[in-house]
Amino acid sequence: MTTPAPDGVITIDDMHLGIPQIIATYLLTGDEPALVDPGPDSTLPALEAGLAAQGLGLGDIRSILLTHIHLDHAGATGSILARNPHVKIYVHTIGAPHIIDPSRLLKSANQLYGEMMETLWGTTVPVPSESVVTLEGGEMLDLGGRTIHVFDAPGHAKHHVIYLDQQSGGAFIGDNGGVRLPELPFARPATPPPDIDLEAWDGTLLMLDELMPSWLMLTHFGAYADVESHLSDFRTRLAHWGEYVRKGMESGASEEEQLAALWQLVAQESAGLSQEVQDALIRQTGALASSWHGLARYWRKRASA
Ligand SMILES: [Zn+2]
Repeated sequence: MTTPAPDGVITIDDMHLGIPQIIATYLLTGDEPALVDPGPDSTLPALEAGLAAQGLGLGDIRSILLTHIHLDHAGATGSILARNPHVKIYVHTIGAPHIIDPSRLLKSANQLYGEMMETLWGTTVPVPSESVVTLEGGEMLDLGGRTIHVFDAPGHAKHHVIYLDQQSGGAFIGDNGGVRLPELPFARPATPPPDIDLEAWDGTLLMLDELMPSWLMLTHFGAYADVESHLSDFRTRLAHWGEYVRKGMESGASEEEQLAALWQLVAQESAGLSQEVQDALIRQTGALASSWHGLARYWRKRASA
């Protein structure tokens, strides 16, 4: 099956835990092949298989563009560098220290995933600092004649950037546009701790709207050409989730009750979808509890600011 994507971009399914359409890596083809979000170390064999299908190997990759440093997007970076030390790594300046020394990142992931860490993400190895190019937004990258515009894009994480590929009109938005499956008309928020910022996120979505890309490229999962409706629906949905969690916190209900209420909201939004699609969406989003915690943390931070 070929997944639709803009010209010059190949979608590689990283087959996370053997399951399709959870994590995508994008291959930018051309004289200097590049990857957007190589995925976790655990899915490196699937990434290599996807590259092989294009007649390429890790040794051909010249650059890796990280939208942000969460393990499901960036965990394989160090392992790839160990195999090909010539790859340049582009990453937000706030995220860079945590791929060079991933100990803090791994510690917080460990709190979330515990003994599932190795199964989910494999082994995350440090990235040598000399391979890292830091970004703040506003840069223009030249990848073998291919121009990529970089935008600071906080919301899902404060170290998130968006890459706009001038050639294809594709905007690689990481997790800032939520998670979506190709057969669905809408995206669902994924809002894990620690640095969800709804206000900043809304600004990022408005900026994206103004950029008017031809495609939205989601890591979870795929390329979407219904840019305007995706963005406006997602903006509304994200705000609604935020308000829902805020009101739950104000109500004095227990954490369990609030989480159950969020499940109810998800059930309402998913009405009419098959059980299979609903399960697939939940897998993509990660635990719903983690989304609740991320939003609750945002509101607590705001209250104490
Ligand atoms: Zn993600």
